Amino acid sequence: MARYPRLMPTEPRLFTATVARTERVSPSFQRVTITGGELAAFEWLGRDHWFRLFLPQAPGAPLRLPKVKGRSWWRSYLMIPAGERPHCSNYTVADFRPDADASELDIDVVLHWHGDELGGAVATWAVGAVPGSPVGFLDQGAMFDPPEDASEFCLAADETGLPGLRGILRHLPESATGTAFLEVPDGGDVTELAAPAGVDVRWLPRTNGHTPGQLALAALQEVSPDPDGYAFVVGESGLATGGRRALKKAGLPTSRITFSGFWRA
Ligand SMILES: Cc1cc2nc3c(=O)[nH]c(=O)nc-3n(C[C@H](O)[C@H](O)[C@H](O)COP(=O)(O)OP(=O)(O)OC[C@H]3O[C@@H](n4cnc5c(N)ncnc54)[C@H](O)[C@@H]3O)c2cc1C
Repeated sequence: MARYPRLMPTEPRLFTATVARTERVSPSFQRVTITGGELAAFEWLGRDHWFRLFLPQAPGAPLRLPKVKGRSWWRSYLMIPAGERPHCSNYTVADFRPDADASELDIDVVLHWHGDELGGAVATWAVGAVPGSPVGFLDQGAMFDPPEDASEFCLAADETGLPGLRGILRHLPESATGTAFLEVPDGGDVTELAAPAGVDVRWLPRTNGHTPGQLALAALQEVSPDPDGYAFVVGESGLATGGRRALKKAGLPTSRITFSGFWRA
């Protein structure tokens, strides 16, 4: 298996931008839009194009960024003194609107709570993001990369994979067929999305008591995949690994499955 996904840039570029606005778009998603002159050079692949997001340690603090050499950045990141090191997490390009002066990039951040408290540094940042505040992001390309002969698609994600699945459904040719399972925390997160007519989009809103990812996993366990198809399964780690196992057992070669654990419950 290749060490790096084919669609990951060999010389990933680090961009800086600032927050333009933030808006609650559904019960579980906060959309942060970032902008800046450097974004004109961003080459958006569509599909699940993702990046490493860097945020200042605290609101108003300066943003220090690692040096990037080829694909290496982690060592340089760790060399930044702990008190100045930016927060880093992985996010997906939910949408990109290129413009010579004022390109905009949307990030759809899942809001998750621990009791009454908003959880996670990025969710907290997203809700309180102040226009003009700095961010950095390191381009990582896309993971969705079906074989050319793939005849049918099986897509599954929890809420963290929804921005990616939206992009993939927009990217698929109109002739594509298959099924997309989209698990979300709340019925209010179900929204219109563009998809080829032959792809059956099944929303799976969670009801109380379900561990995230388990509804999508149960749906995948009922699928009879076309052995010449292609599957893409992302989200909570149990969904990603369990989904791959179920599809493999049902006859889909592992070379035709892309899976990734985005977070751990
Ligand atoms: C390629 C890729 C693309 C991704 N794209 C997106 C995206 O577009 N939008 C998005 O919202 N997420 C996305 N994620 C998932 C995101 O990176 C994780 O949810 C990450 O943990 C959030 O970072 P954090 O720093 O806020 O929280 P962390 O510091 O990582 O975690 C803090 C606590 O929150 C918990 N937690 C983290 N995420 C969730 C969650 N979703 N629900 C409940 N509890 C959670 C953790 O288990 C931990 O206990 C993506 C992940 C990958 C690998």
